[in-house]
Amino acid sequence: MIIDIVTIFPKMFKPVLGESIIRRAQDKGLVKINVHDLRDYSGLTHKKVDAPSFGGGPGMVIRPEAVFSAVESILGYQLYPAKRRDRKKSIVFFTPQGKILTQKRIKKSLRFERLVLLCGRYEGIDYRIRKYLVDEEVSIGDYVLSGGEPAAMVFVDAIVRIIPGVVSCSDSIKQESFESNFLDYPHYTKPRNFRELKVPEVLLSGDHRKIEQWRSKKALELTKARRPDLLKE
Ligand code: SAM
Repeated sequence: MIIDIVTIFPKMFKPVLGESIIRRAQDKGLVKINVHDLRDYSGLTHKKVDAPSFGGGPGMVIRPEAVFSAVESILGYQLYPAKRRDRKKSIVFFTPQGKILTQKRIKKSLRFERLVLLCGRYEGIDYRIRKYLVDEEVSIGDYVLSGGEPAAMVFVDAIVRIIPGVVSCSDSIKQESFESNFLDYPHYTKPRNFRELKVPEVLLSGDHRKIEQWRSKKALELTKARRPDLLKE
């Protein structure tokens, strides 16, 4: 998979993409992540990419020329007015007005060979970009960030870790929260006794059937208490 991130703050991504699972996935050649500076596609003096909102009001808006030019140059063909589309590629814009990101949505995105992620800033982006360029709009929650970059990082992290071969023990992914309609069960590790707080006996019993039963019961209890909505699905 290839992921292209378009942003006016490319440096924000360096530490995130250069560590841990995302770094290893790139080193293994399982994903290629390119970060593009939107200002390089401005075509205006001082690499300006924003302008005031027509009709007045506070804040600036990202102009369409730079964004269209960036995406078309990344993909290598014109998208509007040519309307050429490739179903193996998707152009994603992060906005609080988008559909809320879920694990199901992340899994669906795995079918794409290439994802172009657009990070908004200021008051947002010119609506023509959203209407004629973007394929899907994604929100990471009902709150407003100052830019789409943290949302893009969340999206990249969540998708990269489920690319086959990235996480060495695929069982750990299968058992995670949201994989079924349950939250993950509680985990314990050494020491067995920490300040008189003891690990549940069953987990030390070596009886795998009993351990499975205990974990299922706890996963159900947690889901009922915290996310009963998942059980209705
Ligand atoms: N005026 C916009 C609105 O009310 O919908 C908010 C603009 S916000 C200050 C700037 C940028 O941050 C947005 O264009 C978007 O890219 C990003 N952003 C903010 N909140 C987000 C969220 N919950 N999910 C995804 N992206 C978000």
